[in-house]
Amino acid sequence: MYSASIEITEGCAWNLCTFCWLYKDPRAQFFRKRSRTDIFKDLERIKSSLSFATNFFLGGSSAISSETKVLCDVLQFINQNFPHPQHISSYARASDILEKKNDELIKLHDYGLQTIYMGIETGSASLLKMCKKGITPEEIINASKKVMHMGFKLSVNVILGLGGKKFSKEHIIETTRILNSIKPHMIRFRTLHILPNSPLYLDMLLGIFKELRPREVLKEEYSILKELRVTSDVFNDHLSNYTNFCGSLPEEKNEMLSILENIINNPHKMLSRKDLTVEFLER
Ligand code: SF4
Repeated sequence: MYSASIEITEGCAWNLCTFCWLYKDPRAQFFRKRSRTDIFKDLERIKSSLSFATNFFLGGSSAISSETKVLCDVLQFINQNFPHPQHISSYARASDILEKKNDELIKLHDYGLQTIYMGIETGSASLLKMCKKGITPEEIINASKKVMHMGFKLSVNVILGLGGKKFSKEHIIETTRILNSIKPHMIRFRTLHILPNSPLYLDMLLGIFKELRPREVLKEEYSILKELRVTSDVFNDHLSNYTNFCGSLPEEKNEMLSILENIINNPHKMLSRKDLTVEFLER
C-alpha cells in the first residue's frame, strides 16, 4: 500500500490551540490556501514518481476550507491519473465542515473523498474553551453528524490527558458523552505530550497545568472505553500512546479493556514501546 499526501493548505487558520505545537515557527505561522497551480504541480510530480499510489490524503490543517471547485478538480485528477485510487481522505476542522454547504459536501463525496479526520480532542465545553479549540461540543456534534449524514466515514481524534489532573474526571465524562452521541466510524486515541513550542508548556512550567502520569492516562482511557456505547473501530496506535492496540466496538471491548487493565497493573509485562522504561510507566 502506497500513500501520497497532497498539501492543500499551509499553516493553520486558527493556530491558537494551547496543546498544539504545529505551525509555531514564524516561517510556518501564516495560513494560506495553496493555489490550484501549485497543487497541480505537486500532483504531476506525484504522478511521475508514485503512479502506483493507492491512498491519498488531502493535507494541511484545513484542507476542506479550500474552494470546493479546487478540491473537486484534485479528486478528479486522482481518479483519472492513478489506476487504483483506493482511499482518499482529508483532515477537517469542525468549523470548516459547518461552513460548507450540504451540496458542496455531497459533491466532494461524489468525487471520491471518503473519509474525514476530525480532532475533537474532548467533549468538555470548559476544556475546549481552556485549550482554545475555538469550538463548542454542540458544534462538534453538528459537524460530525453532518459529515456522516453526507455519506463520509468519520474518524475522530481524542487527546488523553488533555484535562491534566484537575479536569481528568470531566474529560472522561464529557468525552464519553460526546462519542456516544456522535457514534463515529473510527475513534483514534492520542496522548498529550507537551512540547516546548506549545502554549501549554509555559502553563506546565508555572504549575498551572499538572500533567497526568502514564498510568493515569491509561486509566483515563480505560474509563472512557468502558462506557462507550458505539459501533466504531478504535485505534490506539499512535507514537504518543503508552501502549498499542486496535479493535472494534462493541465486539472487542473486553479484550481492549483487559489490555489496558494488564498494563495498568503490570506495566513491565506490557511495554510495547521500546523507548518506555518500566520506571517511566510506574511514575
Ligand atoms: S490543533 Fe489543529 S486547529 Fe488547533 S492550532 Fe493545531 S493545527 Fe490548528
